[in-house]
Amino acid sequence: MKIARFEQGDAVRYGIVKGETLVEFSDPGSTGPRGDPNVFAVSAVHLLAPTAPLKVVAVGLNYLDHAKEMGMEPPDEPILFIKPSTSVIGPGDDIIMPKASARVDYEGELAVVMGKRAKDVSVGDAKSHIFGYTCLNDVTARDLQAKDVQFTRAKSFDTFCPIGPWVETELDPYALAIETRLNGKTVQSSSTAQMKWGVYELVSFISSVMTLLPGDVIATGTPPGIGPMAPGDRVEVSIAGIGTLANQTRTST
Ligand code: MG
Repeated sequence: MKIARFEQGDAVRYGIVKGETLVEFSDPGSTGPRGDPNVFAVSAVHLLAPTAPLKVVAVGLNYLDHAKEMGMEPPDEPILFIKPSTSVIGPGDDIIMPKASARVDYEGELAVVMGKRAKDVSVGDAKSHIFGYTCLNDVTARDLQAKDVQFTRAKSFDTFCPIGPWVETELDPYALAIETRLNGKTVQSSSTAQMKWGVYELVSFISSVMTLLPGDVIATGTPPGIGPMAPGDRVEVSIAGIGTLANQTRTST
């Protein structure tokens, strides 16, 4: 089931995506539509980021083929950092390129959306704590990442975390084709089978450090092919079984 969060009138609503339509329901935790559901054309609504996370926990160097590309050994434990909730934007929203950076990169990633509070969860129990999966672009000011060493500034500008277009709740996350396109040209193409730590291992590991709350997001790392964006670029992250997250870049005004 694909669940979208969208704005219609002044209200934030949730709906099930069925082809080109959205069937509204009031509570993403409920089992289905209540009463007579409203039906909208997907193209007629403003899709929002499908979750409003309190935190986005991101994983660095998790794709073996990406580590190889960087000439780096994969780390022996997952490298974690946080993207703030204020960096999250939805499908179609502008990625604003900050004046402080001369190099802003895309990083297409599979995102895990948590469904249940998770603390010290075992690998075997991880799946039952997950709501579903979506696409994420871990936008990064690469020059500031190198300059600061710490990741916080480079990863945290407003608009640096596009998420969407919706959450797929029924998906095996272990061998999904993942692709990023820049102005229509494929720049990243891999499979989640290349991850050193799979989704359930990451949920377990992260939950041993911090409590994951419903709606929180895990960005599971990026495959090879990272590169810069220019103002006016269109960037798309597609994952098999989920769909495509598309955004465009612009300079700050
Ligand atoms: Mg990343």
